[in-house]
Amino acid sequence: MTQKPNTLTGHLGREPSRYHGAVSTPVYRVSTFLMPDLETLERGTAPYVYGRRGTPTSESFATAINTLEHGATTVVTPSGLAAITTAILSVCRTGDHLLVSDSAYFPTRNFCDRVLARYGVQTSYFDPCIGNGIEELFRSNTRAVFCESPGSLTFEVQDIPAIATAAHRHGASVLMDNTWATPLFFQPLDHGVDLSIQSVTKYVGGHSDLMMGYVCANASHADRLVQTHGDLGQFASADDLFLALRGLRTLARRLPVHEQNGLKLARWFAQRPEVTRVLHPGLESDPGHAIWKRDFRGACGLFAIELKPLSRSALAALMNSLKLFGMGWSWGGFESLITPAHIVRTARPWPADATVVRVHAGLEDIDDLIADLTQGFERMAREL
Ligand SMILES: *Cc1c(COP(=O)(O)O)cnc(C)c1O
Repeated sequence: MTQKPNTLTGHLGREPSRYHGAVSTPVYRVSTFLMPDLETLERGTAPYVYGRRGTPTSESFATAINTLEHGATTVVTPSGLAAITTAILSVCRTGDHLLVSDSAYFPTRNFCDRVLARYGVQTSYFDPCIGNGIEELFRSNTRAVFCESPGSLTFEVQDIPAIATAAHRHGASVLMDNTWATPLFFQPLDHGVDLSIQSVTKYVGGHSDLMMGYVCANASHADRLVQTHGDLGQFASADDLFLALRGLRTLARRLPVHEQNGLKLARWFAQRPEVTRVLHPGLESDPGHAIWKRDFRGACGLFAIELKPLSRSALAALMNSLKLFGMGWSWGGFESLITPAHIVRTARPWPADATVVRVHAGLEDIDDLIADLTQGFERMAREL
């Protein structure tokens, strides 16, 4: 990458001369592309043949992502979860075994335990901090390892290069949900991952107003990804593709603000008597800090805190009194959020009675965010 991210994200995938000088590639709402003659129709040689198979808007987006991810091919999906399921289905078949990190996004687990299981693919979960120890978990039929680093509820950082080396030695593919870092702060394919997955819904979209995902493959996984994506009938809507491109234009400017606000909030929480632990790999005290520092270029605004034991009404008093932190199941938008984190673990123990709250630091002024949390803790104290 010669140009810097701020420059790249502003220019990638744009070709104004093709669109009467329009700065942004327009929305192409299209199912049917008309062919100029019978031969072109029958040979399928036109640049665009059918809405689901690619449009100028999707091509703009995929071109930009291929450059940011250092990938060979990018396919788009109507949600991040559809990107996850498409990536897994492009490598697994009946009789295979799949290794999934224990801190993965919960709907990923549901897909493995319900749908994959029904089609004869067996999933087992591994401790995200396992590193080289993953070597012992491979079976003769292990087809792939699915990672999400850091886990988006408990924030363990995985040693992706070590896991990828072990996986490839056993002939297994490596898939990674990289929604937390985005390709600006971690480039999975450069660290041994074969399929890099992103919920565009989060930071790339950046405004909490669209649902979309993508999978970006390296050269060895490109053909099977494209084929499976096509066979499953996956694509993304024209308007969402346009919004995703618009979000991408400011991603490199937004992400460092989320990072700074997130780190400031994390350090502030770490000083509070109400908080027992802050789960944020950007903090020097975090168990994942060394690997995060080695492999990542930055942190986004998402992290968690563990509170001292408290009553349900005290937790409700805190959350209900916040004015700037919305309560909602997402993140990556411009606005701050707070939600309780329901943690399900199998391979790695977790205290059953822990009260963990996930925080998304938005783009608001940090002083206002801290003032809001301060009054929230005061309200909470009255209920303790
Ligand atoms: C939200 C999320 C997804 C799913 O994305 P959708 O666009 O909501 O389907 C996948 N992985 C992680 C880590 C997420 O936070």
